[in-house]
Amino acid sequence: MQYPNSAFEAYQGLGMTSQRTRNRLVERLIEKGVSDDRVLDTIRIVPRHLFLDEAMSSRSYEDTALPIGYGQTISQPWVVAKMTQWILESSIPIKKVLEIGTGSGYQTAILSLLVDEVYSVERIQALSERAEITLNKLELENVQFSLSDGHWGWLDKAPFDAIISAASPAELPQELINQLKVGGRLVMPIGESKQLLYGFEKTPSEVIETCLGEVMFVPMKSGVEA
Ligand code: SAH
Repeated sequence: MQYPNSAFEAYQGLGMTSQRTRNRLVERLIEKGVSDDRVLDTIRIVPRHLFLDEAMSSRSYEDTALPIGYGQTISQPWVVAKMTQWILESSIPIKKVLEIGTGSGYQTAILSLLVDEVYSVERIQALSERAEITLNKLELENVQFSLSDGHWGWLDKAPFDAIISAASPAELPQELINQLKVGGRLVMPIGESKQLLYGFEKTPSEVIETCLGEVMFVPMKSGVEA
């Protein structure tokens, strides 16, 4: 097992948080159809327990969403894998990614190991700050955080090769398509009581939409909570 740096070695965990438990999660994801080795290898090494309260540690490697406080949840590993796999399969190399809904920072850490630059936006200050601390512990340095409303993307840093959102708006925010490179991909849930996961690919002439199935995310809210 190759860890990206010695911090990963230090946080690999014991018992219910051990490497063996993470390997079992990866086996389950393969059974559920995740096939991209880059994504699977990353999920194998990122210590998800570090992104959760200690009281939740023993459940860290269940394939479920779990509470992270402030009424929010860490995304289900299968959903993280599916969204990440979908953007990596794009026709252009994915080097620069915008993430909306930092939350615990788990998806951020996965992206950070797979691409050159990650820009992560969160509307709840306490979550954004905590995620930054967790990523610092893991010595992941190619991530910038912003306390902001993700409906507006991150104009100063645009365009992005890919955009990934873990919060569900009622409809597709057009500004996100504007901040995507041609050939780039956007993946996000859309809908309120019933949500569907959509992938969008921007071509020179149009935006091609693919429905990736039914999902359950938290709603995309407006404004920030400091
Ligand atoms: N991938 C994260 C998911 C966290 S849940 C994880 O695995 O931990 C989704 C997050 O989106 C929540 O933290 C919520 O506060 C945030 N969010 C909701 N609406 C948002 C908005 N308009 N802009 C930025 N973040 C938003």
